[in-house]
Amino acid sequence: MEPVIETFESRKKHMCVKGEGLSIPVCDKASLPGTVTQRTCVFGGARIVLMPITDSIHLVHGPIGCAACTWDIRGSKSSREELYKKGCSTDLQEKDIVFGGEKKLFETVLELYNIYKPGAIFVYATCVSGVIGDDIKAVCKKSEDLTGCRVIPVQSEGFQDHNKTKGHWIGGDALLDYVIGTKEPEETTPFDINIVGEFNVAGDLWGIKPLLEEMGVNIISTISGDSHADEIAQAHRAKLNIVQCQKSSNYVARKMEKKYGIPFIKVNFFGLEQTTNSLREIADFFGDEEMIDRTEKIIERELMGVEDETQEYRERLEGKTVALYVGGNKAWSLVRAFEEVGMDVMMSGTKNGIKEDYERIKETVRDGTIIVDDANSTELARLLKKYKPNLLISGAKEKYISLKLGIPFCDFNHDRISAFAGFKGFVSFAKEVDASVSSPVFNLASKTLSKVSKTPKVGGDENAS
Ligand code: SF4
Repeated sequence: MEPVIETFESRKKHMCVKGEGLSIPVCDKASLPGTVTQRTCVFGGARIVLMPITDSIHLVHGPIGCAACTWDIRGSKSSREELYKKGCSTDLQEKDIVFGGEKKLFETVLELYNIYKPGAIFVYATCVSGVIGDDIKAVCKKSEDLTGCRVIPVQSEGFQDHNKTKGHWIGGDALLDYVIGTKEPEETTPFDINIVGEFNVAGDLWGIKPLLEEMGVNIISTISGDSHADEIAQAHRAKLNIVQCQKSSNYVARKMEKKYGIPFIKVNFFGLEQTTNSLREIADFFGDEEMIDRTEKIIERELMGVEDETQEYRERLEGKTVALYVGGNKAWSLVRAFEEVGMDVMMSGTKNGIKEDYERIKETVRDGTIIVDDANSTELARLLKKYKPNLLISGAKEKYISLKLGIPFCDFNHDRISAFAGFKGFVSFAKEVDASVSSPVFNLASKTLSKVSKTPKVGGDENAS
């Protein structure tokens, strides 16, 4: 069978076409040396799960590079504190590597506590602190005893796995072991929930929260967007967990179900149908007739506005194609939303997908869709050149590959600036996608690029004397 694109023999099975040959691509393997993978490490995986806790200090125990490369790694918004945005590191240096970094860590924690009095201090282990054997747990315990502030070890040494997904679980474990269940709520209601795996990127949470509150649901905590450590500490009293990012957070929901008996349902607030279904499922879970009625009224009111507001965009986007190269959750959860604006998802891929993610992608996309695992820059460029989508949806690392090829691009990763969740989010989504796909600049760019490709190379035949 024809390979999806020309690439190394051992990479060919990381790409497949739904309905032809492989069921899902080979995935969750260490990247091929030399292929310049775009993946991040286990520490990065833990940090993106925890960093949206806004009243906390996130202290990276390692050389400065680990902290610098991941500073403000998420575009998570806060309605309150901005403490989570501080870039804090113990900046381990040669002397610390030789004599150990525990003393420096202890002093740094105390200094940060004295300056900021945070809700919690998360201490992230990195490769270097792991290799030199610093006992982060012991230092955190000692600091917590002295200050009374939660000081939480996150055992996220980057070398533990090739897949940052393990980092998501380690971040979840830090919350399960040291935060959740450590405070009782002042009052509870029969409709208490946690929103798990919602990180408030670009303010997504603010498109969901008002809908849930209007339904009559009481949100104890969000894990972890726009949250405080104290709120997450009370999460064990919820009657239901709703899980938005199922890539990073099914793990936490499953563990909370086991430990506290809290059931969970998977929700998706990207797109109209999925938002509607999610709200109905939550109302049905509680089975309260008044809540079910209110939910239907909310849905009816919101849908009425959205139809009109998106019509113009849908007309222009009808029949256009889109390639997704995003996180494991968005690789399937965005598909229906694109169909709702009239677009065809012709490729979906992810850098760190595990079998569960690819099974979900396969269930969601149509036959003939290309499914890609851990594509490096060259492979991504080849995919774009060969299949020519009208739009690439990806993150900052892929942006210039796309733009240089004259292919419209939208950032749907941590750096995006528009919120896309909920009904109002869907309007922003349609508007932003249309602004990229319909931008006249790409007609000019493709003409310029074709001119460049026809220009003879220096030293080519036409320059020969
Ligand atoms: S934790 Fe390890 S792999 Fe991750 S950034 Fe630091 S040194 Fe690199």
